[in-house]
Amino acid sequence: MLYTSTRNKNIRVSAAQAIAQGISEEGGLFVPCELPEFDIDKIGSMVDMSYIQRAKTVLREFLTDFTDEELDYCVNGAYAANKFSSEKIAPVVNINGNENILELWHGPTCAFKDMALQLLPYLMTVSAKKTADGKTIVILVATSGDTGKAALEGFKNVDNTKILVFYPVDGVSPMQKLQMTTQEGENVAVCAINGNFDDAQSSVKAIFTNDEIKAELAKKNMMFSSANSINWGRLVPQIVYYFSAYSELVQQNRITLGDEINVVVPTGNFGNILAGYYAKQMGLPIKKLVCASNSNNILTDFLKSGEYDKNREFYTTTSPSMDILISSNLERLLYHMSGDDDKLVCELMKSLSENGRYVVSETLIKNIQSVFDAGFCDEASVSGTIHKYEKEFRYLCDTHTSVAVKVYENYVAETGDDIPTVIDSTASPYKFSKSVLNAVNGADDCDLDEFDTVDELNRVTGAPVPAPLKALKDKEVRFKEVCNKENMSEMVFKLLDL
Ligand SMILES: *Cc1c(COP(=O)(O)O)cnc(C)c1O
Repeated sequence: MLYTSTRNKNIRVSAAQAIAQGISEEGGLFVPCELPEFDIDKIGSMVDMSYIQRAKTVLREFLTDFTDEELDYCVNGAYAANKFSSEKIAPVVNINGNENILELWHGPTCAFKDMALQLLPYLMTVSAKKTADGKTIVILVATSGDTGKAALEGFKNVDNTKILVFYPVDGVSPMQKLQMTTQEGENVAVCAINGNFDDAQSSVKAIFTNDEIKAELAKKNMMFSSANSINWGRLVPQIVYYFSAYSELVQQNRITLGDEINVVVPTGNFGNILAGYYAKQMGLPIKKLVCASNSNNILTDFLKSGEYDKNREFYTTTSPSMDILISSNLERLLYHMSGDDDKLVCELMKSLSENGRYVVSETLIKNIQSVFDAGFCDEASVSGTIHKYEKEFRYLCDTHTSVAVKVYENYVAETGDDIPTVIDSTASPYKFSKSVLNAVNGADDCDLDEFDTVDELNRVTGAPVPAPLKALKDKEVRFKEVCNKENMSEMVFKLLDL
């Protein structure tokens, strides 16, 4: 299988090149030239497999330049039993009737990013051996909270890699901040920036494509790559859990092989839901993909109207991983849905960077709407929904999952479409303990410190506290630096000793 770029479809690279390089040289994103097809027998054959076997079955089709031994090494290492708190890796929990929750947060950092970022370092080091032998890979990450920690944890002490993480100083939860600033490992660095996630992401993108900086790196036998979901190696592992969730529903007799399901995804950078789109295009019986947003509802507006306009107020919410106004992976969807129109993608992305907005044609948005629905949820509903689910179903959601659950309720109420549904749950409620505890108590008066809040939430709900979060209490804070976005490239030089 070969990959091309959303901004120049004449480009052809292997999976290993796409993963090692991260982003295409003209700024486009790598996408598969064509998708493998899974017929219903092949999907049925996955029902009785373990998560690891399901992962190999899906990834085999995408990473055709990897040997079987290499793929085994990567997948077995990433999803080893001792790294996840559920032997299912991504368990599906029935809540009520046709409503099921896919728990994607049983990995070492308690957020769904682990599903991809436990695998990415393996994919990347194997890819670098094939395409850039001897080079040290420098991973630059802009994070709204969860990616940073999951990437640090995935890459720590991995030979021939270094990782630098930038996060918005006031844009992450106290637990997320502690997770990052206490990170262990010889090859890691973390820095806060004065700005929001979009500032961090835009600056990281600019550094990636800056020829001067790249040349400096090359002198030291280093090269940049990306662990953000613009990297194909981040997206491809996420396709797996849609096949896995479907298999789980068949196994639990909630559906019969071949039945359609809906999928609801709490969305930020559009990576998770795009992986669901790929699964659907490959043949998984998904009827609708419902894109759930918080008060930063730019994607809801786009999916309803065809106009993407980031000239709007930015809200800092209780679901910070979704506080995003530029959803990078939408570019991939636009490419595929427009019939591989790289010229159009270039125009739209130019308009986005120059005017902060673009409008797509009637035909294109209709096409997108045949697959995607969308909704958003304000802050009061986020906490109201956490409260309701804890009381009614004894199920504790985090703030991001709550957004999706509420948008799902609204979707069913508006459309009557209540077929079996999978709602992605993207974080442990203990990563956002304060918001979750306030929601459960129906109050806004929690003045406990982070760890006492965790204990109190545990006392009130009985939900188990993930071991990695408990352990943070005794760790030393290693990274205290804060910089302005204009100084990020200097910071990169400093942190890399260039
Ligand atoms: C990253 C993240 C999201 C958003 O996922 P995208 O792939 O960026 O759309 C949602 N919830 C949580 C908890 C996350 O960490």
